[in-house]
Amino acid sequence: MISSERPYIILGAGVIGLTTAVRLLESPYYQSTKPSVHIIADHLPNDPLDARYASTIAGAHHLSFADDIDERQRGWDRKTFQIMYEEWREIGESSGLMALKQTELFVGETKHLKIYEEHPDFAVLDERERPKDVDHSVSFTSLTMTPLIYLNRLLKRIDDLSNHQVKIHRHHLPSLSALSHPSIHAMIGTAPPLAIIVCTGIGALTLGDVEDKTVYPTRGQVVKVRAPWIRAGYTRQVGSLTGSEGGERTYVIPRPDGEVILGGTREVGDWYPYPREGTTSDILKRVLEICPDLCPSHMVAPPLTNQKNGSIETLKLGDVDSIEVIDHSPLRSLIVDTLVGFRPSREGGTRLERGQDLILVEEQPTAVVYNYGHGGAGWQSCWGTAEDAVALLLATIET
Ligand SMILES: Cc1cc2nc3c(=O)[nH]c(=O)nc-3n(C[C@H](O)[C@H](O)[C@H](O)COP(=O)(O)OP(=O)(O)OC[C@H]3O[C@@H](n4cnc5c(N)ncnc54)[C@H](O)[C@@H]3O)c2cc1C
Repeated sequence: MISSERPYIILGAGVIGLTTAVRLLESPYYQSTKPSVHIIADHLPNDPLDARYASTIAGAHHLSFADDIDERQRGWDRKTFQIMYEEWREIGESSGLMALKQTELFVGETKHLKIYEEHPDFAVLDERERPKDVDHSVSFTSLTMTPLIYLNRLLKRIDDLSNHQVKIHRHHLPSLSALSHPSIHAMIGTAPPLAIIVCTGIGALTLGDVEDKTVYPTRGQVVKVRAPWIRAGYTRQVGSLTGSEGGERTYVIPRPDGEVILGGTREVGDWYPYPREGTTSDILKRVLEICPDLCPSHMVAPPLTNQKNGSIETLKLGDVDSIEVIDHSPLRSLIVDTLVGFRPSREGGTRLERGQDLILVEEQPTAVVYNYGHGGAGWQSCWGTAEDAVALLLATIET
């Protein structure tokens, strides 16, 4: 057995890195040997939002994309729902989770993913219960997540489980080999790490010694509005999901604090990190089609009027100088923010496997486990993948 003096490294502090850290710290192996554990990351949960840090931009809701035949993904999504639903039952909305009725509308499709049938309160809506242009619809109980609250709870769990021993370092690691650089020794000590778990999301594309060219961004733009009266979730899928990212998807994701995330877009290979105005208008239009309650009638202002010759006439755009009208969506006044993030997509799906050992010091190999490339499903699969990654790691160490 390799010396337990050597540290464990978790690279990345998104929802994947932090849930993986929690499962490692909870393991009987960690609790009995108490090795040192370090989390190294460029971005940390309370940083200003950045498109390259997907976990803080996400909606997020639990709405699996797992194909009926994809047992691996179904297992991860199912496990994560069970764990989060239990957390919500125990702690309530202060957990950063909100249980709600979720309605899925399908256009151009007449069936739903089988995994939805495992959710509480699953029902198929009949023709009279769904909008006219919708071909199929189901509803069930699901969860939404408020990333900032949930990620901070994970940080606290890490601190508690390790009795304040886990060190979190803000650092950009150019390559895995850079772990032997003297500047890193100052952080983690001179002994080569016993193991490293790579949870770098989109960073796996450029991280030296990994440089996974099958990783690519799927750009997502969302609009955050304040609409505390919305307590149910809606999604409309137009066309086939084809795995996870096909067709057009529109969604309404309420959070317990009254903010609602409206989306979305799935722009494969698009690195543009700022909101596009035309996309915002399109999202505002689409969400009203699936959730008219976003705009209660008292919010719809009467038309602008102009008093001429004693009569009241509706104003035409040309009557008013220099008003720049982008769109007339009544939702504009509710906007809190417009966000963009890059989903860490990967051809073939999430990479969860043990890789080749890294040799930083002769005869002291460092085990490497990969856990990245969750695309648009990192929140809903995080606990499932964390458990598998830690099981792979411990199998490595204990043999
Ligand atoms: C608009 C949008 C909506 C989404 N909605 C949902 C949803 O409803 N449900 C859902 O399940 N998922 C959703 N997702 C997807 C989800 O956000 C991601 O799958 C998930 O956040 C990926 O987590 P991660 O920890 O792998 O990556 P990230 O959160 O991106 O974290 C990566 C970490 O690695 C660090 N890192 C990377 N490279 C290096 C390096 N070289 N050195 C040091 N540190 C490094 C980063 O600094 C960061 O800490 C959405 C994503 C977007 C953008």
